[in-house]
Amino acid sequence: MIKKEKLDLLKNECAACHACDLHNTRTNTVFGRGSYDADILFIGEAPGEKEDLSGEAFVGASGKLLDKFLKEAGIPDTAYFIANIIKCRPPKNRDPKKEEEDKCIEFLSRQIELINPKIIVCLGRISAKRIIKKDFSITNEHGVWFEKDGRKITAVYHPAAILRDVRKKEEEMSDFKKIAEMRNTLTN
Ligand code: URA
Repeated sequence: MIKKEKLDLLKNECAACHACDLHNTRTNTVFGRGSYDADILFIGEAPGEKEDLSGEAFVGASGKLLDKFLKEAGIPDTAYFIANIIKCRPPKNRDPKKEEEDKCIEFLSRQIELINPKIIVCLGRISAKRIIKKDFSITNEHGVWFEKDGRKITAVYHPAAILRDVRKKEEEMSDFKKIAEMRNTLTN
């Protein structure tokens, strides 16, 4: 089976998932968007209202801002996939519970295995704590490179944090440029 078929099967499996209580309140599962041949996998937290209604990742205000950073850094659409730790919206956008993350993380692990990105970028604190290390500090460690399973991993502020505090915008742009440079280094 080719990669696309395997990922489409996984997407269907995700859409039918009843492993935690979030299936009771979701409209749609949100598998992710972008290229299955991505060099870079961005990992957010969980779908918000717009994502729940559309079934697409990062389509609300923070998604639009994320798209702007990607464009300004010169990262082409073919180079990335955007997914989340949790595939269903937590009610009222509360933080995901540990047991919800634990039940859902297998989907993300399989996405990582199948997409096989060279670079993983955690969007925000919740993702960085789950993917990089438990005591990750987004304030002190955003833009720092880690290495795991032969992949480069970093974290940036969640775009929603930039919407709340525009003073972080320059640091975010600089981190996105570093991601674009890392991709160029690894693919050229
Ligand atoms: N915030 C996230 O972390 N993920 C989304 O898909 C949308 C908003």
